[in-house]
Amino acid sequence: MVMNDIDLGWLAGIFEGEGCIYITQDGRTLRLTIPSTDLETVEKVKRLTGIGTIHQANYVVKSGESRVIYRWQAQKLLEVQDLLRTLLPHFGKRRTAKAIEGLAIEPNPNGYGPRNPQRLEVCRRGLHEMVGNNVAVAKNGNRRCRLCRNERERDRARSNRESLSLS
Ligand SMILES: [Zn+2]
Repeated sequence: MVMNDIDLGWLAGIFEGEGCIYITQDGRTLRLTIPSTDLETVEKVKRLTGIGTIHQANYVVKSGESRVIYRWQAQKLLEVQDLLRTLLPHFGKRRTAKAIEGLAIEPNPNGYGPRNPQRLEVCRRGLHEMVGNNVAVAKNGNRRCRLCRNERERDRARSNRESLSLS
């Protein structure tokens, strides 16, 4: 993977902000995803990395409007590990730990993950994959997206701070 510093910085920034590293429960599949409402962004990710595929997801927001999310994802183990090694020096602490976990996965003899990876299940907003730690199961059995919940809590904390500073 050959990238100049500007492209590498851009990619690392996008990944740090929006990207997710997923490792399946059986510890065999490593998947990187970057969701975006902007098709150009995910196309640039695909062009720079030279790997992965782009999927389009439609979802309906509360107001009834429908939105489109584009998601770049890559899950061929050796390719993904190669990309992680390139980005590793630019990651924050938490992501570095996850990346190291992903780099430790041993390839199958054919060099890739399972032959028939399960279909992606994503959260209602179409942003995050519903696997492993990201699934919070409510008392009524509903499966909720932890990343979305964290985002809502951050927004709530922020608006609380803003209303405090206004009063
Ligand atoms: Zn989500």
